[in-house]
Amino acid sequence: MSDHFVTSRRISVLMLALALQLPVSARANDAKGIARITEIVTLADSDNQEALRQLEAFKAEQNDKTSKRVKLETLRALSGLYYDAGKVQVSDEMMRELQQLAAEMGDDNALMIADIMRAGEIMESGHPQQALKLLKNLEEKMSARIEPEVRFRLSSALGLAYYQTGNFESAQRYYLDALKKTDDLVFRKMQRRIYALDALAKLYANMKDPEKALATIHEALELSPLARAPKTYASLSMSEGFALSLQGKNDEAMQAYQRTLKIAREASMPLFELLCLANIGDYYLSKHDYKKAEQYSREALQKAEVLSDKASAVVARVNIGLALGGQGKVQQGAEMIELVLKPLIDSDQKVDAEAILGELAGMYERNGWYKEALATVRQQQKLSEELFRSDRAKAVAALQEQFHADQRQKKIELLARENDLKDAELHNRRLQQVVMALGVVIALMAGVFVYLLYRRVQRVNQKLVEVNSQLEFHAVRDPLTGLFNRRSFVDLMKKRTQQTETERREARIEYPDGLILMDIDHFKQINDILGHAAGDAVLIEVARRLRETVRESDMVLRWGGEEFLIFTPHATPDQIAVLVERVLNAIGETQIQAGDRKIQVTVTAGFISLPFAGLDESVCGWEKALQIADMALYLGKANGRNRAYGIAGLKTRSEAMIQVLEQDLAAAIKTGMVEMAEVHGPARFEATGFAQFEPH
Ligand code: GH3
Ligand code: MG
Ligand code: MG
Repeated sequence: MSDHFVTSRRISVLMLALALQLPVSARANDAKGIARITEIVTLADSDNQEALRQLEAFKAEQNDKTSKRVKLETLRALSGLYYDAGKVQVSDEMMRELQQLAAEMGDDNALMIADIMRAGEIMESGHPQQALKLLKNLEEKMSARIEPEVRFRLSSALGLAYYQTGNFESAQRYYLDALKKTDDLVFRKMQRRIYALDALAKLYANMKDPEKALATIHEALELSPLARAPKTYASLSMSEGFALSLQGKNDEAMQAYQRTLKIAREASMPLFELLCLANIGDYYLSKHDYKKAEQYSREALQKAEVLSDKASAVVARVNIGLALGGQGKVQQGAEMIELVLKPLIDSDQKVDAEAILGELAGMYERNGWYKEALATVRQQQKLSEELFRSDRAKAVAALQEQFHADQRQKKIELLARENDLKDAELHNRRLQQVVMALGVVIALMAGVFVYLLYRRVQRVNQKLVEVNSQLEFHAVRDPLTGLFNRRSFVDLMKKRTQQTETERREARIEYPDGLILMDIDHFKQINDILGHAAGDAVLIEVARRLRETVRESDMVLRWGGEEFLIFTPHATPDQIAVLVERVLNAIGETQIQAGDRKIQVTVTAGFISLPFAGLDESVCGWEKALQIADMALYLGKANGRNRAYGIAGLKTRSEAMIQVLEQDLAAAIKTGMVEMAEVHGPARFEATGFAQFEPH
């Protein structure tokens, strides 16, 4: 189960525990006690067990005369050390005691500390949104009485909460803020600087920016030898492993994991050990080395059971199941996975259950158990729908969206950089052409544009389509809109490919077909503000208008969630552009009833002819053409939406053109070899409440 999200959540909560267990600055009369706690916590960096022993002894010495603040700090440190020792229950007990004490004290700082810890707990139980709310409240209550140490902790915790809700920008802001706040700290300044850097590194890795993650890890390592204390070093190594695996440096990643494992074992940090084993198991799964995957996952399971860490046990069991499946023991693997699924579903842990169902379906599929695969995908889809409104699902979706946006942005940056136009204005028409032409070229040459990044809903839909096709399942209509579905289009295209070369040439070069790919603008806002049912109503109405607008011979399809495709046979580029304009107007000109409101809905489109630029379809088939149309669509989004871009063709003859392109891309573009068309949608209505926000 490639579950970096769950795994990294656990790692980062662990990080929070590390950052939290440190004593705050002392008032004069508490100084001695606090200094003792600091000493013990520093010892814990290298020997958690011994530190725990000493801290328990210190606690036992305390009596009525001991200051409450010292008691509070003792409990806090104990809670952290027990957490690291894998005794999560005892850690929780300490936290309860702490909360009670803080309430008795009624002191601002104590209360805030207790609340921050509670937020950490809420995060770990999988409700980051709720934790975020609590922390934002605390931030508002910030006063001059709050000590620098508590401020530091609040910033760290806010960083983590934002991270878990998928808001990486804010996470980064708060982590950097925490880093800056370490300047005001009295105790363990350097250690906490290292923690903050480690947190940032984990964030960067999750933002799929392994270079930045590695640079941050190295910065931490160079900052001070304290970074080599086992507890810190283990955490940094783990992040390093994760970042390296993102870079595809698998052997080095493995070394980092093995190093973490070794440190964790030597310094008896069972939770780290467990996370490491899980990551290694995951790694082997992704390498399809199922024997090793099974071995490490079994070890992880054993550890998880000893530590009664239920979440990790689930991950380990699923991984064992998948590893068994990979070795052809499908029945056995499936049973293992089903065993963890049921309690998850019963206890309403749907996000995890949904992800696991996806993995299970994949396993069935890979082994040719299509009937089971289909049933599993259906079950997954049902859960996915149920999840639509839940808090955490939104967080996960937000996270994926973030990756998605990030990825797309990188794609464009890369394209722009290639032509030394990085700094030029994207709105400049010339650049639009260059970027798009490069998109065309790259799609043509290497087919590197993997069709958008997956989105959960779409992936599930697609999987369903694939599995269906294996089963000769002949549903051609989309149940919601009544439009043709993706499969029927794929079928049509298959038939098209089966025609002989000559038939193809004769029939089509002169009369190419048109492909128009559309995506509703800001559709998520409709769902979010008016509800899923209103979103569905919009989809139905958009589908109706599309059908009404096209010719009898055109085919309208629901391509994905809120993406539609028109296939218009025998149309010249000019005719396609006219149709596109009619479509944009048909959707955007009159408002659509959504729930109890009327709203203006617009779409952005990309269009292209097939065959493209007179190229034979063995060179540029419908899939590549669609990828190019999708690039055009994306540019439409980037340039303000409610518009369409089309690529009519390449201005030079086909074969020769490819050679020229291969030898000198930039020159080919500069000489204006790509024909572009641009179509604008209707004017926007005033303040409908939707699509008013443009990210530019
Ligand atoms: P953009 O203008 O960039 O396209 O913004 P957007 O909000 O439309 O973003 P995006 O295309 O990523 O979002 C599509 C959303 O449509 C996400 C998905 O949850 C939702 N969706 C997909 N299928 C359905 C469906 O059948 N019904 C409803 N109501 N919503 C769906
Ligand atoms: Mg979309
Ligand atoms: Mg959209």
